[in-house]
Amino acid sequence: MDPTVDTAAETTPVFPWQMPLWTRLGEARRRDRLAHAYLLAGPPGVGKRVLAWRIAASVLCRSPLADDRACGQCPDCRLLEAGTHPDCAVVEPESGKAQISIEAVRELGADLTQTAHQGGMRVALIVPAEAMTPQSANSLLKTLEEPHGRVLLILISDRPLAVLPTLRSRCQRLDCPAPSQDVLRGWLRQEYPDERRLLRALTLAGGAPLHTRSYLDDAEVQRLDRLAQDSLLVMTGTADPLAVAARWATGESPDLLGLWMVRLAEEMARLRILGHGPPPVLLDLDTRTLQRMLARADNEDVLAYGAFARQARLWLVQGAAQRQGLLESLLIPLAAGLHAFRAQNPGRTGLPRETTS
Ligand SMILES: [Zn+2]
Repeated sequence: MDPTVDTAAETTPVFPWQMPLWTRLGEARRRDRLAHAYLLAGPPGVGKRVLAWRIAASVLCRSPLADDRACGQCPDCRLLEAGTHPDCAVVEPESGKAQISIEAVRELGADLTQTAHQGGMRVALIVPAEAMTPQSANSLLKTLEEPHGRVLLILISDRPLAVLPTLRSRCQRLDCPAPSQDVLRGWLRQEYPDERRLLRALTLAGGAPLHTRSYLDDAEVQRLDRLAQDSLLVMTGTADPLAVAARWATGESPDLLGLWMVRLAEEMARLRILGHGPPPVLLDLDTRTLQRMLARADNEDVLAYGAFARQARLWLVQGAAQRQGLLESLLIPLAAGLHAFRAQNPGRTGLPRETTS
């Protein structure tokens, strides 16, 4: 979902939840205490790549602002913005590949042993760090052990434990935190005042700030409004679940459909089983109406449906051949308020049997 590196971000305001980290790095830089290599670690969607790019821009900029951000005006900033700065490299897996190639790392190593073209530092971003193979890591370690001139390597990872230990131990780790719900809502509310949409995006993204923001994008809002409307029509018996499944299978993103159904199942489970909590935000309904719709289901039915939705999400994302059938088996129970879900779907608490072969 994230662009690999958000190259337009270096001069925008630092995310509020990254300010402590940013201030610390600025101090290190002023005292000439920046490490040669950092591992930026943290959950997906918290803005690690944006931060890495800001750091790169800041160290390459000739006249950074008082708060250490790049000026956006100097020749280095212009080169960086154009994606042609000779002293900044982004190393990532080639399209369709899971791992970073040894050739790419060798090329980086050769670049880093030369003096910086612009007379300052050389910066390289490695994304994601866990995509480095042992062979690539060895090649990179040589560069790390014999840095020529001033080099800054920034490795980025959602899964720092999956990064090779030899690499991890050579980097100073920087943990990128997720913001608290209050900070995140405060940050988004200025730009997105529609509270209902904001809550829906927060619920879907599970607290990841950049994912939340992407669900508030106009096109995404329309898509989510459609999913909400369709789900509600199925649940109230106004739309045929088979017709909706057919439309979703061809017209909607499998990632989004899978996530939508999982979050919807979670919301239904919270209201049916706990019987209280904030009103539903995925559907335009009040708590009582949704509880009434689920009144004939028992707790085990609701939980089993949730387990099935989570499995179905994996299948949708992995490109299950029977996408439409999978969506039908998710939507038909909705039309019955999940009543007798287990009895009618004996094979449905785990992976759907017909799609496992
Ligand atoms: Zn600049």
